[in-house]
Amino acid sequence: MAYDVAIVGAGAAGMYCACKILCKRDASVALIDSNSRPGRKLLMTGGGRCNISNDSISAGDYHTDSMERLEDILTFHNTEDFLAFITDELGVLTSERSGLYYPSTFRSETVVNSLAQYITGHGGTFIGDTTVTSIKHEDGLFKINRDIASKTVVIATGGASYPVTGSNGSFISLLAPFTGKDDMEALYPALVPLKSSDSDIKRLSGIRVMCDLTLYGGRGEDLVLSSSSGELLFTDYGVSGICVLDVSGEAVRAIASGNKPVLSVNLIKTSSDEAVSLVSRLCSIFPDRSVKSALMGVLREEITDVILARLKLSKDMKAGDADGKIIRSIADMMTSFKININGSLGFDNAQITSGGLKLSSLTKSLEIEGHKGLFACGEMLDCNGICGGYNLQFAWSSAAVAADGVLSCLN
Ligand SMILES: Cc1cc2nc3c(=O)[nH]c(=O)nc-3n(C[C@H](O)[C@H](O)[C@H](O)COP(=O)(O)OP(=O)(O)OC[C@H]3O[C@@H](n4cnc5c(N)ncnc54)[C@H](O)[C@@H]3O)c2cc1C
Repeated sequence: MAYDVAIVGAGAAGMYCACKILCKRDASVALIDSNSRPGRKLLMTGGGRCNISNDSISAGDYHTDSMERLEDILTFHNTEDFLAFITDELGVLTSERSGLYYPSTFRSETVVNSLAQYITGHGGTFIGDTTVTSIKHEDGLFKINRDIASKTVVIATGGASYPVTGSNGSFISLLAPFTGKDDMEALYPALVPLKSSDSDIKRLSGIRVMCDLTLYGGRGEDLVLSSSSGELLFTDYGVSGICVLDVSGEAVRAIASGNKPVLSVNLIKTSSDEAVSLVSRLCSIFPDRSVKSALMGVLREEITDVILARLKLSKDMKAGDADGKIIRSIADMMTSFKININGSLGFDNAQITSGGLKLSSLTKSLEIEGHKGLFACGEMLDCNGICGGYNLQFAWSSAAVAADGVLSCLN
């Protein structure tokens, strides 16, 4: 028997693609995964709460080889379309918190189980514990691992991030017979904690700050690679936190191209001149206290210690002894605290993969150029977004486009 559709990978994209096919047509759909259950990574998302989408998604929030193609994908099936589908078809209500959407149960399991039950309830077949190692096109059909035949195939194997979930970059070898070297963008970890070689950063391990963050390329102060705002967490290896994850993809790429990226952290989210006035005022109000004690209402004392050490000033220096030049240097460091970045925690700890199969190598339906009936969607495509539901929305949107392409193919 040949299936109408075989989907390789039962993650967010593969499962949603199956739903979008089965809601329109009574097709035979096989969803194949190396895990025994579908949605293993989806279960981990949003800290187990599944941040499914965001209310302000635009192509500019992603890194991709083709903004134009990305815009088409995000327009074809946007946040509203996805929320409407899971509410109307899957019966999953959603909640919005500061622009981020979650299932109203705040449980990833709700999303995974609802998708899985919709698929089996509409006649789809889940084939678990099956790692796909080859796809061939023979006699008008696709042959998967030699024993599964299908009229069309959707590759939705995810990228290379968190390989423990089953997504280990296998799409590269699966696609090799159908793509050229130029169709693939090199893979890098993204949304990943960053390592620093600065020895004083370890001393701040465990401290969190709300900050504005700018990533410089290491070829001079003026080359800004990326910026973000939010919580930064100092760790014993370097830095983490959502704003760090958001700029991490660019930092990893900069290192790969031989640069030395530097994070500049505005620890008090204010301008340099305002910081000078603030430090000056606090030092004059508390002249008999140490500088770190005078500033303790705005900055953790451990951080002031590091700032004073970087400026080669005594950690017990009295606030009243700080002259205008010292006040300016302290204020400058509070608004532009530098952290040298020399690596990341790698794919094992990355929430997403940057790079992959180029959007520009696919048709508008996400069909592989020159290979009718072979589609791709999800994280394996060269498109990665910031934190906040952007990556799952790309998985849903690209899956909906691929599903539409499959339906046209079957007609
Ligand atoms: C810890 C963590 C938290 C995250 N939180 C969020 C969040 O809150 N919001 C958000 O938008 N994004 C989040 N993401 C990113 C999000 O999980 C991904 O964007 C999304 O899962 C990608 O979906 P996918 O279907 O393309 O790939 P995956 O979900 O990785 O699914 C791919 C599937 O393919 C299977 N597979 C791979 N190769 C083969 C093969 N050769 N044969 C058979 N099966 C195969 C895998 O087992 C896997 O089940 C998070 C990621 C992580 C790791």
